[in-house]
Amino acid sequence: MGEFNFSDHPHRRYNPLTGEWVLVSPHRAKRPWQGQIEKNDIKILPFYDPDCYLCPGNIRAGGKINPKYTDTFVFSNDFSSILPDTPVGGINEKDLFIADTENGLCKVICFSHLHNLTVPEMKQEKVRKVIDVWVNEYEELGKIDFINYIQIFENKGSMMGCSNPHPHCQIWSQKYLPVEIEKEQKHQENYFKNHNRTLLADYLEAEISKCERVICSNNSFIALVPFWAVWPFEAMIISKRPVSNLLELNDKEKDDFADIYIQLTIRYDNLFEISFPYSMGIHQAPTDGKQHPEWHMHLHFYPPLLRSATVKKFMVGYEMMANPQRDITAEQSAERLRSLSKVHYKMHNLN
Ligand SMILES: [Zn+2]
Ligand SMILES: [Zn+2]
Repeated sequence: MGEFNFSDHPHRRYNPLTGEWVLVSPHRAKRPWQGQIEKNDIKILPFYDPDCYLCPGNIRAGGKINPKYTDTFVFSNDFSSILPDTPVGGINEKDLFIADTENGLCKVICFSHLHNLTVPEMKQEKVRKVIDVWVNEYEELGKIDFINYIQIFENKGSMMGCSNPHPHCQIWSQKYLPVEIEKEQKHQENYFKNHNRTLLADYLEAEISKCERVICSNNSFIALVPFWAVWPFEAMIISKRPVSNLLELNDKEKDDFADIYIQLTIRYDNLFEISFPYSMGIHQAPTDGKQHPEWHMHLHFYPPLLRSATVKKFMVGYEMMANPQRDITAEQSAERLRSLSKVHYKMHNLN
């Protein structure tokens, strides 16, 4: 079998942010790439849908009427998963039955008044407006006493269970640190204690010098497939400067943030020439009133697609019972994404 190498031999990789492992089986991905493109289910969407609860002027399920907004629109989720006024309570019986009240607020942010637009098709100055809303929400929600963590996330595409194509994201803010954040906080804290630098600052420096897993970049941000990626085309966007949250970004960095978000999602759309589904989330410092120099703000993108517009990766069997596994390596995925056009395929197809 020759000497060990990452592109031929089964191995496991460590995620230093979470302390978890992924099994990589590159010998199973040897067949040549078939960039299958299935254009059979392309739906042409209208820019306004009278039945959409997010479109301007429409009535939502709770009976409220959306304003005739342009650009962005924020409202409290009519069916929030967590509520601000739940009475405080909890149990711990024999260390076996443990529960606590969770308090919080859930909001929805429309990215645009146009029903049929998505981030990769938006102009940079319009995406910048979305980022300004995120900054404002993080600041305002963070001021609330019982809010200690703010999760901004985008669920895109029916494959991700998102029932409405209107471009939007959600913010769930809450009292307790969610599981993923607790893991990342612990590992970033340990790293910062031992190295006096953020884990992701050192990781980014190493990735820039290797260049194997970088997809694209600008002055302030890098998009890459992390060494420990689980999903076939998983990516992270990491700020070059170790900022702990959105509030620390300067004006230029916010513009660059909009740019990298568009750059990455254009490549995603170009991969199979479809509106590419994914879950995106921003990970940043808790708003618990403490300083968090260990936190380095970043975004995760978890797309489910494997090798075509319809073939998706399943997390079942070994992955449910043991740990995640992938065939195509992070380096191969990064190369695929890096080699794609910077111009959205819809613009190409106009020519
Ligand atoms: Zn709509
Ligand atoms: Zn993270």
